Amino acid sequence: MLERAVALLEGAEAGVATGSGMSALYTAILALAPRPATIVATRELYGGTAALLRQDLEPAGYEVHFLDFGDLEAVTNSMEGAGLVLAETITNPLCHVPDLEAIGAMARERQIPFLVDNTFASPILCRPLELGATVVMHSATKYLGGHSDLVAGVIVGGTEVMGAARARSVRTGTPLGPFEAWLALRGLRTLDLRMRRHSDSSLALARAMQTMPGVERVHHPLLEGSPSRAVALRLLPEGAGGMMAFDLEGGRAAVQRMMDRLQLVTFAASLGGVETTISYPEITSHRSMTAEERAELGVGPGTVRVSVGIEDADDVIGDVAQAIG
Ligand code: PLP
Repeated sequence: MLERAVALLEGAEAGVATGSGMSALYTAILALAPRPATIVATRELYGGTAALLRQDLEPAGYEVHFLDFGDLEAVTNSMEGAGLVLAETITNPLCHVPDLEAIGAMARERQIPFLVDNTFASPILCRPLELGATVVMHSATKYLGGHSDLVAGVIVGGTEVMGAARARSVRTGTPLGPFEAWLALRGLRTLDLRMRRHSDSSLALARAMQTMPGVERVHHPLLEGSPSRAVALRLLPEGAGGMMAFDLEGGRAAVQRMMDRLQLVTFAASLGGVETTISYPEITSHRSMTAEERAELGVGPGTVRVSVGIEDADDVIGDVAQAIG
């Protein structure tokens, strides 16, 4: 039922549910590129995905090119001879929105499968299959479940590729258990309501933070001046979801001070739940990178990621303001 529901929401023929987002991703990659191939991937990938590519697939013979997906010329140049293109709808933590439509068209022209991690947007805000993706993947641990009480993954796509994915998932022991599937299905009933609220509140918090003292920069794709604004308005016309980030003046010490003072908002490495949570990429999602690698992506010692929940937005804004002030 969960597989059918997510397939329907994404406009896909079929789906496969697995025990986590990572197993969903691994299953999808191997279903689309079963033999060692060149993978063209965004350099802003979720840290776990980057680690899977570097530590498991590269030693198995895959070659991975990590690129800035904002540079469409670089993406098209690197596609020659590639076996898979891998993108995320909204990147972590700076919330950039790559032009999936343009990348999908380039991949389709060359008959290269295009895999999109749609975890941050959910099918309420973006349906990548309509933009040219071959398979869409979700960590259902996040928005699909929505309550931070399950671990699950789902992939959706055409009947044939999902058949191959299901067979591989069963052989490698990654199918999702029935209780988690039931929890995720229950979460889906409120997905539409939650995503709209997450989107409104994250934009409200982003706007409010632009004028808070001590805040160097706010990252949200729909803010005026965001490098992703034009693409986000086109690909995410109903909102950009609950994720945003900001850079605090004063680096780690300032982040620590803010964390100690927050009362409503809590620290959590995960995201996509009904409560607002904050994470610090330097010690969580981006800890395996060097400071230079993080700096190249624009992630500094003052960068904080926020997963804005469904509380009253003024309560969240007030808590962040008093913690920073
Ligand atoms: N993809 C994205 C964008 C994520 O944020 C995460 C987890 O943080 C995953 C995949 C992995 O999902 P899971 O934790 O369910 O294995």
